[in-house]
Amino acid sequence: MSFDSLGLSAELLRAVREQGYETPSAIQASAIPAALKGADLMASAQTGTGKTAAFTLPLLQKLSAETAGKGRRVRALILTPTRELAAQVEDSIRTYGRHLNLRSLAVYGGTGIGPQMRRLNQGVDVLVATPGRLMDHMERRTVDLSSVDTLILDEADRMLDMGFLPAIETIVKALPKTRQTLLFSATFPMAIEKLAGKFMNKPERIETGERNAAAEQVDQSAYMVDTHRKRELLTHLIGTENWGQVLVFTRTKRGADQLAKELERDGIRSTTIHGNKSQNARTKALNSFKRNNVRALIATDVAARGIDINRLSHVVNYDVPDNPEDYVHRIGRTGRGGEDGRAISFVSAAEKGNFAGIRRMVRKDIPSEIMEGFEPKQTSAGAPRRNGRGRPGGPGGQGRRSGPPAHRRQGSGRSFSRSRA
Ligand code: AMP
Repeated sequence: MSFDSLGLSAELLRAVREQGYETPSAIQASAIPAALKGADLMASAQTGTGKTAAFTLPLLQKLSAETAGKGRRVRALILTPTRELAAQVEDSIRTYGRHLNLRSLAVYGGTGIGPQMRRLNQGVDVLVATPGRLMDHMERRTVDLSSVDTLILDEADRMLDMGFLPAIETIVKALPKTRQTLLFSATFPMAIEKLAGKFMNKPERIETGERNAAAEQVDQSAYMVDTHRKRELLTHLIGTENWGQVLVFTRTKRGADQLAKELERDGIRSTTIHGNKSQNARTKALNSFKRNNVRALIATDVAARGIDINRLSHVVNYDVPDNPEDYVHRIGRTGRGGEDGRAISFVSAAEKGNFAGIRRMVRKDIPSEIMEGFEPKQTSAGAPRRNGRGRPGGPGGQGRRSGPPAHRRQGSGRSFSRSRA
């Protein structure tokens, strides 16, 4: 299967080639022709499967083919749960649309509304927005949605999780009824089905079997370790295994700041991304990580949702997330676009229950090990383990480890690839 057979225009194929993509991913192969036909789509797609191009490419084709009669009015609206994802999607629109004459804009909170108002006023073809900030613009009457003929809901389940349902309902009511609607979601709970029933017109369903592609593509493992020794273990792994860059997830904003400080003291250049930082500071942190100016980026879940970092090799769950879906999102930051990736979880005695829940959800026996010199001494109640009583470590698949890991993964299981040229 090649991109040439999907029905895309020469300008778009050129942009795709320039990105180095060789074959369409599963979601791209099914969603692009269906979207080009004009159908409403409900597609199950995790981040990391190429879903952004799956909706952006047919959208750009449709917009560039439309006659210019409408002038520069918002003709496509893309809603995303987070600011970072909005910025990234808009970035993709620019990338894939580089040989077309279209204008795009991302509007999201945490940054001045004035410049967004001016850009909207000058005319925009594609608007990417988080629901909250778009509502703001609607209330101020600084955006005109009356020409929107394509609506895309990206990471719809996340938007509902984040409480955006009322905002989405208000926004959709303001759109013309005749339009194409594409909905992308990692999961399809009842609430999404209801939303689709209300807003979509006989949607075609696309299941690629890549629901947990991130989880399958990433080499996952865990270390059993006491909470107070996690930082040392992290420094040890970064140093002895010579990791390039690592994205580290902590449960709290304070925990993230604290860890970054300690890693800096260990000589590892670090920065943080979390909800207490201004949008500007978050963008700066992300950019300095992307430019390789820092080695470790410490993040909380909300801030890191949807971010795309090219060729990120390691993700560490410094704290095990309470919610197994957060785990899938976290590890989906690595192993993207068919690249290799490793996700390592640090599991304290108190976190074993949560970790077992994650294993059940990803339906994988994530091997857990104990690093020599970092043997856990705590029980789940936090007390030191009595000598010789109880086996340390979590359920199943344990081994002891010293020195660098054997490479567990045989084939990469990748379904799409990018040329390195
Ligand atoms: P997404 O799931 O849209 O966040 O995309 C994940 C990553 O895959 C991004 O870094 C894309 O640049 C990359 N990507 C998307 N489509 C392809 C493709 N067909 N071949 C290789 N890489 C791709």
